Parts: sequence; structure tokens; C-alpha cells
Amino acid sequence: MEPLDLLILGGGPAGCAAALTAARLGLRVQVLERHPQRSKPGDALPPQAAPILQKLGVVPDPAWAVPTAGLEFRWGNDAVNLTSFPAVHQRFGLALHREAFEQHLRTLAAKAGAKFSAGVHPERVQETATGWRVSCHNHPEVLAHFVLDATGRQAWFARQLGISRIQLDAQVALFRMNQSVKGPPWIQVHSETDGWWYTSQLPQARSEMFFTVPETPAYLASIREGGWKAAAASTSFLNRIAGKRWLAVGDAAFTFDPIASQGISQALSSGYYAALAARDVLNGKTEAGAAYALTLLKATDAFFREWRGIYQTEQRFAGSLYWKSRHQLPEVQLPWWEVFQTST
Ligand SMILES: Cc1cc2nc3c(=O)[nH]c(=O)nc-3n(C[C@H](O)[C@H](O)[C@H](O)COP(=O)(O)OP(=O)(O)OC[C@H]3O[C@@H](n4cnc5c(N)ncnc54)[C@H](O)[C@@H]3O)c2cc1C
Repeated sequence: MEPLDLLILGGGPAGCAAALTAARLGLRVQVLERHPQRSKPGDALPPQAAPILQKLGVVPDPAWAVPTAGLEFRWGNDAVNLTSFPAVHQRFGLALHREAFEQHLRTLAAKAGAKFSAGVHPERVQETATGWRVSCHNHPEVLAHFVLDATGRQAWFARQLGISRIQLDAQVALFRMNQSVKGPPWIQVHSETDGWWYTSQLPQARSEMFFTVPETPAYLASIREGGWKAAAASTSFLNRIAGKRWLAVGDAAFTFDPIASQGISQALSSGYYAALAARDVLNGKTEAGAAYALTLLKATDAFFREWRGIYQTEQRFAGSLYWKSRHQLPEVQLPWWEVFQTST
């Protein structure tokens, strides 16, 4: 069996962006996605995501995106502040129908020549003389010269290599869709005693999310009420995001607090740049992996510099369980030195 140039584990935004880019570069690429189709929370693409969409040749379509005009923010005091995206960024943001958006990315990548296999459970990773052998429960084993770990916050591949994940907090999200409910065409973020709300207008639905910790009365009540789903919304990162023949992309590398609204755009751009780096490593530029990791760390550092400060500006509910936990977020030490450990 001829090894692939690139195997991508995980077919979310990061894996799709990488597959699309790699296929366009002429690499032989395959994506293994564990779930056949899955709904995920998270729908806001800020205006700053426009350049990466353009690089990927992804043109917003009403089938999976509606424009968002701005951000309504009530945080730190009772005033409601509304920032207009066109006034500040000269363009609108987007609210995504998440499944349709990911399906669109998959279609683009497949058209470019990437192979997709869904419902596949990778089981074991072995390093070979020229790359990797990945055995799967329900799929023939796959050989590849290079692997991208795009498995989201689970970082399945990196964990198989024994790399640990640094967990910084324990936030959870409650989310639900209100079909046919109309609200303003902008995002709303409001803090309150037990956490903070997010709402946005999607095609024919209103998305609602509440970020909290599991011990709060609001969380317990919503679980009793039903109609809400819970998802991990914590912040974490891998202790090492690059090796000689592998890179971590998207949430697998860094999982941001959703307050940043950065996860999807970061997934798209890290997927794009990781595919370029993989091509370069395969062409003998062995330093390309470390260069990718350094660029990603720099981009991430900007978020971590602001992260704790965002929560410190809300002091009205300082006695509550949720806000106590947000006021004790740890100082973050990013794994700068690990970047240069590209031996595996
Ligand atoms: C509640 C919540 C709200 C959010 N809101 C926003 C928002 O408004 N804006 C924003 O930009 N970001 C938001 N995010 C973050 C955003 O959803 C993520 O950053 C984004 O999905 C990361 O994309 P990814 O491709 O790296 O990972 P994922 O989207 O998690 O994709 C990983 C894929 O890998 C697959 N997989 C997992 N394990 C394996 C395995 N072993 N083998 C093969 N496949 C595997 C999974 O099925 C999945 O499809 C939010 C996150 C949460 C939790």
C-alpha cells in the first residue's frame, strides 16, 4: 500500500481547511472523521475571519451563513453597549448554520481531491521509518508520511503519543436552538449572576448559549427543565503542538474560551497554515513544522494576555460560584520551548 502524503484525523473546520489546502497543493490527502454527522455549538464568525475565508476560497452563502451587524455587550455594569461591525471593521460578521457550513467545507475539499471517510474509529498509532501507521476499528489501516491532529479538544493523536493537555478551567455551556424565533441581527453577550449569555440570529432559528460552571443553580435548573444540551467550554492546550512528522491544528492545539469567538477562525487558519507546513516538510524543509508552531503560539499568546482581564472587568457578581471561579483563572505559561522538540 502506497502511503498517503497527509492523513488528517478529524473533519471539523480545522481538518477541512487543511484538507482543502493540501489537496489544492497537490498532496494525496485523506480525512478520517469519527462521527458521520454531528451538531456542534458555536456559530459566530467575527469580521476578522474574512481574510482566512478568502484564502480558502470560501464564499459565504445564505444556505449556511447570515450576516451579523455587531455585538451587544452588557458586562461590568448595567449599560448596554452596541458595537457596529461595519463601523469598526468595515464588514459584517457571520452567524453560521454549523452543520451546513462544515458540509460546505467538506464538499470543497472533496472537489479539490481530498478523500473523506466518516464514522471511522482510529484505534492505534505506530511510527514507521517514513511516517505513520494508523489502525482503525472499522476501516483498513492507513499509512501516511505526515499526520495532522484535527480531533478537537480530545487531541486523540497527540495523546496517543503521550503528550499531555493543560486544562485551565472547568467552564461548561448550555445550548439550544429556538426554531422560528426572531431577535435582533446582532450578537448579544450579557453577564449575570451565574454566568453569561450568548444569543445570535441564525437562518430561521435563534441560538442561545449560557456559560457557567456545573455547580450553579442555573445549570442544575436547566438540566431539570430539559431542552438544553451541555458541552464542555473550558480552555486548554497541548503541551506540545508539533513533531517531526505531525502537527496539531484547531482545538486539538488550543481550545479557547468561547468569549473570544476565535475558535472557528483559528481552526480554519491553523488548518490552512499546517497544510502549507506539511507540504514544506515533505519537500525537505524540516524546520517548517517548528515555524508553524511558533506562528500559532504567537497568535494564541495575544488571546491569553487578555483572557483573565476580560473576566476581571465583571465584578458585580463577585460572590457567586461562577464569578469566583472566573476571578481565579490561572496565569498561563504557553509551551514555547516545546516547539523545538520535533524529534517525534
Ligand atoms: C459552547 C461553545 C460555543 C462556541 N462558540 C463559538 C463561536 O461562537 N465562535 C467560534 O469561533 N468558536 C466557538 N466555539 C469554538 C469552536 O466551536 C471550536 O473552536 C471549533 O469547532 C474548532 O474546530 P476544530 O475543527 O478544531 O474541532 P472540532 O470542530 O471539535 O472538530 C473535531 C472533529 O474531530 C472529530 N474527532 C474527534 N476525535 C476523533 C478521532 N479520534 N478520530 C477521528 N475524528 C475524531 C470530531 O468528531 C470532530 O468532528 C465554541 C465552542 C463551544 C464549546
